[in-house]
Amino acid sequence: MISVEEALEKILGCVDVLGHEKKPILDCLGQVLAEDVYSTIDVPPLDNSAMDGYAVRAEDTRGASKLHPRQLVVVGEVAAGSMPKEEVKPGTAIRVMTGAPLPQGAEAVVQFEDTNEANRKSRQDDLSQIGVFCQVEKGLNVRHKGEDIAAGALVLKKGSSLRPAEVGILASLGRSSALVIRRPVVAVLATGDELVGADQPLSPGKIHDSNSYTIAAEILRYGGVPKILGIGLDSIPLLTEKIGEGLDADMLITSGGVSLGDYDVVKDVLRECGEIALWTICMKPGKPSAFGLIKKGEKRVPLLGLPGNPVSSMVAFEQFARPAILKMMGKRNLAKPSIQAIIEGDVKNTDGRRIFARVIVTRRGGQYRARLTGPQGSGILTSMAEANGLAVIPERTEGVKAGDVVQVQMLDWSEDELLED
Ligand code: AMP
Ligand code: MG
Repeated sequence: MISVEEALEKILGCVDVLGHEKKPILDCLGQVLAEDVYSTIDVPPLDNSAMDGYAVRAEDTRGASKLHPRQLVVVGEVAAGSMPKEEVKPGTAIRVMTGAPLPQGAEAVVQFEDTNEANRKSRQDDLSQIGVFCQVEKGLNVRHKGEDIAAGALVLKKGSSLRPAEVGILASLGRSSALVIRRPVVAVLATGDELVGADQPLSPGKIHDSNSYTIAAEILRYGGVPKILGIGLDSIPLLTEKIGEGLDADMLITSGGVSLGDYDVVKDVLRECGEIALWTICMKPGKPSAFGLIKKGEKRVPLLGLPGNPVSSMVAFEQFARPAILKMMGKRNLAKPSIQAIIEGDVKNTDGRRIFARVIVTRRGGQYRARLTGPQGSGILTSMAEANGLAVIPERTEGVKAGDVVQVQMLDWSEDELLED
């Protein structure tokens, strides 16, 4: 049995960052940039107004107040998207909308609320003149050319992840596509003679294959492209054939068939068609997980064999498949987000493995607390649905007692889910 860290190191040592592809920017969400992005333009392209108001010379507002407004002659109007035709000369103002380029001569913008525009309108006076209620400094309510992004600047660095803000930045630079590291295609194969598809009726002794779906959903969640191969039966030739269908993928994930039972043949296929790099990991659940490389000509396709029990396969996926997928996508932070929490129940460690206990994390009095979900059996998939975290109980300990501080890997890192209880 090897440690979780050793297993992870071996697995990560066998997967590489993938090649890149050029894609429409919206399709790049969550992917990693494979190019440095420089700006060829200034954003904004011109000095412009940050408010709806009047573009003025600062000097013309000196001493202005509500009691003693400064009267200015309005010589024009500019909407966002058009260019000013007039200039602001001493004693004049130009009515401007948010985003409108700042007219020549203007130094600041006085917002409508600081003028008598509303009074004039209610009196049905025209807007050929305006009273300014306050004294303004140069630059007030002016957005300067290039203040967000200057032409020539390195705006997004190769290796950064594209979130909504970065996608928007690409658009603001006039880029409709970007070069990103491609998403890994991960083939998913459930194994077991007892399995039938989710859309098939059950006959005696059979169960629905849920692992294909949880695993495929996890792959999607972390940015990969799942390719569901279906159900492989527990025989070496049939399984070998099925695995062959997945060898175009960047990685294969099987579930089931890795324990010590008579029909657990995934390891045998791994041995026959490639090499087994590891089997059995010091963790609970997830111990019988296996990893190896399947040969396809010159190529070696990584195969992660997860245990069949639904909770075991999910927990092992989080520890090994998730970081492998993230590495292939070019992500640098592969660790699951973790917090420290006070555990609210005892967890006994009877055989020295690292336990991943399903917990519900809440926040109380500024402190995280982790409550165990009900029964912790590795077949109880509803415990994963109930949980928002996995409490990590260290190996080679007797376990933890209620009140101890434990590390919790957050399955869902959403503040919404962590309301005070
Ligand atoms: P195995 O690892 O093949 O011995 O399977 C362990 C347990 O997990 C058995 O009770 C299986 O029926 C169950 N199991 C295996 N594969 C799946 C699957 N794809 N969906 C749901 N349960 C499964
Ligand atoms: Mg089985």
